[in-house]
Formats: sequence, C-alpha cells, structure tokens
Amino acid sequence: NKDVVYNFSAGPSMLPKEVLKKVQMELCNWKNSGKSIIEVSHRSQDFELVLEELEYNFRFLLNIPKNYKIIFCHGGARGQFSAIPLNLLGNYTNADYINSGHWSYAAAVESRKYCTPNIINIKNKCNKKILIFSMNDWKINSKSAYLHYCPNETIEGIAIHEEPNFENTVIVGDFSSTLLSRVIDVRKYGVIYASFQKNIGPSGTTVIIIREDLLHRSKSICPSILNYSKLLQSNSMFNTPTTFSIYVSNLVLKWIKKKGGLKEIEKKNQEKANLIYEMIDNTDFYVNNIIENNRSFMNVTFSISNHSLNHLFLKESYSFGLHCLKGHSIVGGFRASIYNSMPKKGIIKLIKFMKIFKKKYK
Ligand code: PMP
Repeated sequence: NKDVVYNFSAGPSMLPKEVLKKVQMELCNWKNSGKSIIEVSHRSQDFELVLEELEYNFRFLLNIPKNYKIIFCHGGARGQFSAIPLNLLGNYTNADYINSGHWSYAAAVESRKYCTPNIINIKNKCNKKILIFSMNDWKINSKSAYLHYCPNETIEGIAIHEEPNFENTVIVGDFSSTLLSRVIDVRKYGVIYASFQKNIGPSGTTVIIIREDLLHRSKSICPSILNYSKLLQSNSMFNTPTTFSIYVSNLVLKWIKKKGGLKEIEKKNQEKANLIYEMIDNTDFYVNNIIENNRSFMNVTFSISNHSLNHLFLKESYSFGLHCLKGHSIVGGFRASIYNSMPKKGIIKLIKFMKIFKKKYK
C-alpha cells in the first residue's frame, strides 16, 4: 500500500502509532484533570508518579539490580561525553576509549578536555568488509579510570554484540541507539547511558544507569546539572526536567512490556534486520560493507554499486512511502534505521521497493 508511510529516520525516529494516538487522546485532558501533563509542575504528584513509573519500567525491562541507580538528565548523549569523565575520573588522569566509529571517537575527543584518553582502535578490514576485534583482543590499560565503548555505531551501522567481561574495569557504554532493543546484563557495566530519541521516546532526555559505588568520583568542576550525585539527590529534578519526553517515553516502555519485553523485542529486531541483510547479500546491486558478526540490528547501512543512482533511489523510495533512507553524510549511501517501533510490514515494503528498483536500473 503506497499510502502507508514508513519512517526510517535514525533519530528522532519513529514511535509506536499506539503511543502517539494515546498522547493525542490525553494531551489536552490528562486523566480528566482539564489540563495537560506538560502544563503542570514537575513537582506535582501527577508528574512525580509518571517519573516514578518510568524508572520502575526501566528497572523491570532491563532487570536492573538494586545497587544501580537511574538518573534522567538533559544534554543528550553528547552531554554525557563530558559528564562521564567529570563524574568518573576521580584522581585518575587516563581513560580507555574504544574507537569503533563516529560516536565512540567523538566521545574520546570530548574527553580530552578532562583527561588523556587512551584511544584503542578496534576496526579492521577483511575482504573489503569492516570487522571489529573481539573483546579479548582489546588492548586495555590498567591505569585507566574506565573503559568507554559504543555497542551500536548509529552512523556506520556497526554493532558489538558481545558483552564485556573485563575484571576490575569500569565499563561505560553509550547505548544511545540500542538500549531497550535487546536483552543486556546490566551487571557487566559500571555506567550505561542513552539519549531517548531512538528506542525510548522523543528527544530531550538521557537516561543514565550507574552502579552506586561509582557515585563519589566526580570532579569539583563538574557542572551541577551533569553531576550524578546531585541529580540523584534531587530525584533527577535539580532543574526542570524534560517533562514531555519523560511522559511519552513512559508510554513507550509500557508498549514494550505489552509486546512481551526485551526478549521478544530482540527476536523481532533480529528477524527484521536479517530480512534486509539477506536481500542485500543476495544481489551485487546493493552492498553492505560490514562482516556478519558486526552488523547492526538497528541501523542497516547499504549502498548501490552504481553511485549515480543514489539520488534516484532516494526520490523513488520517498514516493513509494519509504522516508528518511539517506545515509549519514560521513558514510554516504543509505541507512534504514529500524528501531523497535518499525513493524515488519515496513521492512517487507522496503525489500519490495529495493527489488523493484534493482530490476528497473540493473
Ligand atoms: N551516541 C550515539 C551512539 C548516537 O547515535 C548519538 C546521536 N544519534 C549520540 C551519541 C549523540 O546523541 P545526542 O544528539 O542526544 O547528544
């Protein structure tokens, strides 16, 4: 059906229709109060309940142990590129930064303002395909305050599916484009952070999940609005929180629960991504340049061997009802971001279009 539009944007990105309809229904009249939840004080009982519920739903879905705290913060994941060193360095002067692509490298660059990052390159090529070294081969530094990495590089579509298992190392993960898309073992990490605008909700908020023993390492120059202990003491309300995205994301998490939780979501996400990769691998017309083990289930990147067709692909896919497929300018080509809310029907429609396009221009 050409009239149904599927939005493959990398973030802000598609939200479940069911959630958008609920927002639309209750936006002007929250629980028959005659006003909107985004018009009331963040200190009101109504909003505090929403925030409490959101935290509960994170705990439930990710099975977060009691000794981990949850913080909601402003400033996106980029804000955390500063907050992480400012909160975790303590007396250390070094930190390990795994470089697997654009975002993990950007985090390392920002950290230079506060420490000396030990940048560890883990990308290689094998038969013209990108591969990521397995964690056993990461050359980590015992004098580092923590090790930062990004399990899903949103721009390149590179994923590290392996979970970290390093003794005596504080692992920090930028989960911006993968949190809530699969099951993870929170206990493997010191800090997990993610900005909301992919699998969690509208942009504006960042969630931080931190092991409580790491809370006392902040530098005195750390701005209060990024200081984890301060944020916790004030129940993530040191300043006015992003009430709209907090409200909507709570509905998104409830939707994930209804869908069967992360186990079910993960299965569906893998199935969806594999359908596209299979289609790409079965032709010479489309190319994905990442080895199978490191392919993202969230951001499927691909190109057409004949680059002169790029413009036409975007134009015709748009008319077909497939929006926002343009790849990030750093890598070019195309990117289908297929977060939790993308239904299988959207994937089938994309594959159908890719086949039609190939036939027409091959
Ligand atoms: N890290 C990753 C993995 C991302 O995908 C993004 C943004 N898409 C960022 C960091 C930056 O996020 P923000 O714009 O919320 O600062």
